[in-house]
Amino acid sequence: MAERLTKLGVRRIGDLLCLLPQRYEDRTTLKPIGSLVVGETALIEGVIELSELVIRRRRSLLCRLADGTGAITLRFFHFTRSQQQGFARGTRLRCYGEVRSGPAGLELVHPEHRIVRAEEPEPAESLTPVYPTTEGLHQQTLRRLVEHALALLEREPLIDFLEPLLATRPHAGKAWPTLADALVYLHTPPRDAATDLLLAGGHPCSRRIAIEELIAQRLSLRQSAAVARTERAHPFPAAVAELAKFRAGLPFTLTAAQQSAFAEVVADLAASVPMNRLLQGDVGSGKTVVAAMAAVIAAAAGFQTAVMAPTELLAEQHFASFDRWLTPLGVVVIPLLGSQPARTRASALAAIADGTAAVVVGTHALFQESVEFAKLALVIVDEQHRFGVEQRLKLKQKGAQRERVPHQLIMTATPIPRTLAMTAYADLDYSVIGELPPGRQPVKTVVLAEQRRAELVERVAVHCATGQQAYWVCPLIEESELIDSQAATELEAELAAALPQVRIGLVHGRMKSAEKDVVMRAFKSRALDLLVATTVIEVGVDVPNATLMVVENAERMGLAQLHQLRGRVGRGHQASTCVLLYKPPLSPLARERLNVLRATNDGFEVAQKDLELRGPGEVLGTRQTGIEQLRVADLLRDADLLPTVIEVSEQLLATQPQAVAPLIRRWIRGAAEYAQV
Ligand code: ADP
Ligand code: MG
Repeated sequence: MAERLTKLGVRRIGDLLCLLPQRYEDRTTLKPIGSLVVGETALIEGVIELSELVIRRRRSLLCRLADGTGAITLRFFHFTRSQQQGFARGTRLRCYGEVRSGPAGLELVHPEHRIVRAEEPEPAESLTPVYPTTEGLHQQTLRRLVEHALALLEREPLIDFLEPLLATRPHAGKAWPTLADALVYLHTPPRDAATDLLLAGGHPCSRRIAIEELIAQRLSLRQSAAVARTERAHPFPAAVAELAKFRAGLPFTLTAAQQSAFAEVVADLAASVPMNRLLQGDVGSGKTVVAAMAAVIAAAAGFQTAVMAPTELLAEQHFASFDRWLTPLGVVVIPLLGSQPARTRASALAAIADGTAAVVVGTHALFQESVEFAKLALVIVDEQHRFGVEQRLKLKQKGAQRERVPHQLIMTATPIPRTLAMTAYADLDYSVIGELPPGRQPVKTVVLAEQRRAELVERVAVHCATGQQAYWVCPLIEESELIDSQAATELEAELAAALPQVRIGLVHGRMKSAEKDVVMRAFKSRALDLLVATTVIEVGVDVPNATLMVVENAERMGLAQLHQLRGRVGRGHQASTCVLLYKPPLSPLARERLNVLRATNDGFEVAQKDLELRGPGEVLGTRQTGIEQLRVADLLRDADLLPTVIEVSEQLLATQPQAVAPLIRRWIRGAAEYAQV
């Protein structure tokens, strides 16, 4: 059992208290059987009138249960002989389950049930919690354990580290509940509790837990940052001559925002503590070139840089950029991709191991065991939300040698308000590229009903005839790459038939990376006019001559994802258009969501509106932050708590440093492992 509990993050008794219910069941009242309606989940009690084994298509045990107000059938498919014997006529049974309609009236299929003895206690006084559980650990067992823990809580109260600090900071004009009160309430809410509010995190008791968890989270990240500050990295001088040459080779000048972000990177790299910097910039703001300049600095000092991208396609594209920019400076850039033939891979591995390769661009392939770096000192991670914290840790360990760890630069297009960044990424320094390169024209966004598809196809023909290119994106509809890829293949056939004069290419997730590469290259070199694609092109693909984007079934997609997709156009000097196709009827909410994209091109604003319209979640989900351990808190939903979280954390660090470790241990699962990242 200890092993199973560990899977739930429960190691000590106190951890049971922090394991919070997923939902509640109302078992506070016995319902008269005569009053039951289909679909209702209820607690009933009655006497077995009849119990029979029926063998029709399937062997089942049917019991007739009556309580004077009515009768209902209990249906069991799996039962032991002794269970069958236990259901003898006259036995009093208490059942909990969902009422369904069966062939002979109402029934409960496999209800939870218990034989009731004479001195049976009354039904529960509070709502019954349902905990997240794991295989082999019964809900009942977990409930019993939590009950024990709650009983112990009365005798041995938890230390409430935050109470004095929160006392001076009332929440919405009211005093905060104490930790113990909040926990007791969450585990055993009264019959009339607003459970929806509780579960959605809006109840004062859930918020009390959320703020504690966020504080623990921030402290834990601050601790990782403190650990990182005790680590050593190779300090690099700012390769002035090489950088001047690099800039001279660029076909553009850096924006002020790129320069100031880069200045922060330069300062970090010059220090002998490792850089841990998050570089945020909206799609198209030009993060890659800033990263490339960091690689120039490392290479000038004779060290290696690893550039990690989330997809092969993007890795190939980054390789192309780094190769184009750095090779003229005499810096050797090589790709390391999962799809490379064995011989290419072997020679790449050799070049990485002997240090000939100064910059290695790749995907997950980079942190496989066979990859040995000679002198890795800088790790650049693109689109960080697609990499977990663990993967970052692995790559960091790869570079660790003779007490030196690599510098890390993490690039993301996810818009993150500053207070949120201070909490979600309290272990990272933060730079923002807050402007787009000059000359970019905002993408015009049009929302179009599916019925006008024929017009749109015409328009694509005209567009391509002028020498400009277009994307037609067939988004994720099923959770299956196979089905999506088929949909894209069909779309390509349809468009090819309608547009014989247009050169059409296709990329989707099921294609081999070499095949995708051929198509992408053809598109980049303008040998293709129209690229039909699944959302594989969502991240990072850069073809400035592509100025029209069509997205199908846009109503089904998240705003953040649509914004990313739209970022594939509007990258050059020509005006660009993004057409969001939808299948009517469009719900008022869906319409409003699509209108957000029409109204703004600003990623921050899109994220903010998305949050308002939809509630939190996907904008900065746990998957994206790499913070899987949050139980109750939600960084966006609880954004209003963040200023208090930051204040209280700092005060706690200053005045009660001894409280920090227990708080972290209480709330952060696997805190010890993550402290190293
Ligand atoms: P993202 O931040 O989305 O990763 P990229 O780094 O891919 O953006 O840059 C988008 C495009 O803008 C690329 O074609 C890049 O070469 C170009 N670019 C970057 N910086 C500038 C600049 N200062 N002026 C003009 N174009 C730029
Ligand atoms: Mg990018």
